[in-house]
Amino acid sequence: MKIETIAIHAGNHPDKTSGLVIQPITTSTTFTRNADGEYPSGHIYSRSSNPNRTSLENVLTQIEGGADSAAFSSGNAAGMAVFQSLQPGTHIILPDDMYHGLRNQIKNLFAGILEFDFIDVNDDAVLQQHIKPNTGIIWIETPSNPLLKLTDIKKVVDIAHAKGIKVVCDNTFATPLCQQPLALEADLVMHSSTKYFGGHSDLMGGALITAEKSEWWQKIRQVQEMGGAIPSPADCYYLVRSIKTLPYRVRGHVVNAVQLAEFLENHKNVEQVMYPGLASHPQHQLASKQMNLYGGMLSFLVEGGQQEASKVINSLQLFTQATSLGGVESLIEHRALVEGPDSKTPRNLLRVSVGLEHIDDLIADLQQALDSI
Ligand SMILES: *Cc1c(COP(=O)(O)O)cnc(C)c1O
Repeated sequence: MKIETIAIHAGNHPDKTSGLVIQPITTSTTFTRNADGEYPSGHIYSRSSNPNRTSLENVLTQIEGGADSAAFSSGNAAGMAVFQSLQPGTHIILPDDMYHGLRNQIKNLFAGILEFDFIDVNDDAVLQQHIKPNTGIIWIETPSNPLLKLTDIKKVVDIAHAKGIKVVCDNTFATPLCQQPLALEADLVMHSSTKYFGGHSDLMGGALITAEKSEWWQKIRQVQEMGGAIPSPADCYYLVRSIKTLPYRVRGHVVNAVQLAEFLENHKNVEQVMYPGLASHPQHQLASKQMNLYGGMLSFLVEGGQQEASKVINSLQLFTQATSLGGVESLIEHRALVEGPDSKTPRNLLRVSVGLEHIDDLIADLQQALDSI
């Protein structure tokens, strides 16, 4: 089945006898046992599994083309489950430009438990140099946050697999519409479903989708079930509901992002636009090779410094100044301020989550804000 059909049907399993078209939210935390000791619903206790989470995991598995998936209460909880599934002393390689919340998690919660290096994963020589006998996983995030740098997924997979190392890809920015890492032989895909999957900036969630039900996957499932960082049945329900429109929303985000990137590139008060869909992006060719669509996220450098960037952001009427991404409304943020004092992000960088408003209104708003400096 194609992705639009999967999105609508793979997460909806109403009980056939009830006549319901849409699967309801099952709030019961516990499930009845028969006289013979069996559980007729297949569920025992809601932390281990429940109907809404099973439906959500089913659509997540199919939409990324995996063998199984596990839903979590946030993207960071999903990431944490990966790190907790590793033997203490395992070495992991991560990108030098990645979601700062997960970078901080590694640094603050796994120091002394795991070994880690943050490097330019896309540079073969640098990557080879950092691989050690105890390297267990290479973590990639492409396009990256906030510089929109790309990593060649297949290239990293080939280097890793030759040495028995697993590859995990944070696919939050791309979504399965733009890029399918499992098809490029990555071992595990991670999502913050708070973003495009949720799509309306009103729920938190995370997901892991695996290429195969390996022993390592069983360990991740244990972290999910025994650790208990699971989404509520209501959150699962709302995610299943949102995913039904994911293909159409993402296409809308991308159409707007392409036009906004082109507009920004031609404005005299913009120094540089970072968007994989622009011919000027240094990895545009790689983007065209490994992505089906270029995504709804872009960053740009305002001519001048932090002051000019702040002036632009404060002059906007339609764009909301807030962190996060993937919702129907356009958001903009001064990324260096969000990331804190150790941020290496340029001070004049603004990151945009391009929403689904009409493109003419978005361009008009940015036009007046950029003209004001
Ligand atoms: C938001 C985000 C995360 C973390 O997800 P939460 O749902 O906020 O815990 C991880 N990776 C990327 C790329 C993100 O944008």
